[in-house]
Amino acid sequence: MIDSQQLAYAYQQGSLLRFDNVNVPQGGVLVLRGASGSGKSTWLALAAGLLAPSEGDITIAGQSVKALGKAAGDAWRARTIGFLPQKLHLSAALTVHDNLAMAQWAAGQPQDEKRIAEALAALGVQDLTRRKPAQLSGGQAQRVALARAVLLKPLVILADEPTASLDDDSAGAALALLQACAAREGATLVIATHDSRVLNGLEGEIITLPINNGHSLL
Ligand code: ADP
Ligand code: MG
Repeated sequence: MIDSQQLAYAYQQGSLLRFDNVNVPQGGVLVLRGASGSGKSTWLALAAGLLAPSEGDITIAGQSVKALGKAAGDAWRARTIGFLPQKLHLSAALTVHDNLAMAQWAAGQPQDEKRIAEALAALGVQDLTRRKPAQLSGGQAQRVALARAVLLKPLVILADEPTASLDDDSAGAALALLQACAAREGATLVIATHDSRVLNGLEGEIITLPINNGHSLL
């Protein structure tokens, strides 16, 4: 379901970042491992169709990201990709409920109260609906951001450094939550990380893509 071939990307005035080929089946788990600055977030942006490859291509559920136009890309991304960014980007002005409602609105979807309630309940944060992000703990905020990421039932969940700045117990809990959430939604899960604890925190068959680009391997 994820298939990358000869994928490479260069930022303006940056050197070419190259990525080994990888193939992940539907429902699989992929871990992108590499040091800071090696290109993990860039790979995620390529997979989400936010950046166009300089070379090669990546295909998600049969869709070549290279072939996506700008406008088509937004609609495709809303249907296909659930993104859990490193900085959660919850809107501070809005309640938990409204952060999710805004995600439906931004994707051009009708407001669906049943789905919002379902997504929050699945992550155990249904009692926090009326709170604003400043009134959430870090773990609660991450659960809300994950509820938002899976709200539109994406085929793929992309998580960028989900355990950064978490202690061992919280990191383990965050990974178990991510994996359970992806499994429940039937989504393929991609985790970008420089945290060596991640592989121990995941269960079952894990595909690993080392990313190097001149940085020492982890
Ligand atoms: P990682 O997520 O593994 O830390 P990134 O994908 O963020 O790595 O970055 C890979 C390389 O690309 C780094 O050298 C970084 O400085 C560079 N880079 C990232 N974003 C930009 C950008 N917007 N413009 C120029 N260079 C960038
Ligand atoms: Mg990064």
